[in-house]
Amino acid sequence: MDYLPLSKVNTVAYCGRRFYLEYILGELHANHHVIEGHYLHEKAYTEGDELSGLWVWSDRLGLVGVVDRLEWRKGEACVVEYKVGRASEEAHPSDAIQLVAQALCLLESRGIEARRGFVYYHKSHARREVAFTPELFAAVEEAVARMRTLLGSPRPPGVEVPRSKCEGCSVRGACQPELWRKGVARWA
Ligand code: SF4
Repeated sequence: MDYLPLSKVNTVAYCGRRFYLEYILGELHANHHVIEGHYLHEKAYTEGDELSGLWVWSDRLGLVGVVDRLEWRKGEACVVEYKVGRASEEAHPSDAIQLVAQALCLLESRGIEARRGFVYYHKSHARREVAFTPELFAAVEEAVARMRTLLGSPRPPGVEVPRSKCEGCSVRGACQPELWRKGVARWA
């Protein structure tokens, strides 16, 4: 089985079409979110914390990637993911799913169990706590299954997400969501 990048769990949970365009068709365009995100991650790795940038993987799920930061709070392991954007009241759903995927990989590859974690939103300088619920674990399984299905698909899925998700999307130019919504862009 080919291993998929852990971070793509977030992408596919956010939008299946984006996953297809980015990962399968290679339409990754470096808008400011992508560039700032890369810088943030690099910063996280060079802060001198020995538990930053920890490689983790899952043979069961076929995922491999990096935990940005692993912290211990009162003896309890917590995973932390850095994001460029602004915080809402709660962690964005796709970010929470990515965090749980990291925890599953952490447990399988390093034997460390994390039951909660945090997403740090750089623009708001704020963390949002995520408790790892059965629903989030199920969402990880669904996301991985969707990635495998899309890898076998000859064409990307249609536009399935609300307009608000398309604002700032790094593959918007290739996607042309408005043309799709108007019925101009359709696969034969
Ligand atoms: S522009 Fe919208 S529909 Fe298209 S890939 Fe991005 S989020 Fe998905």
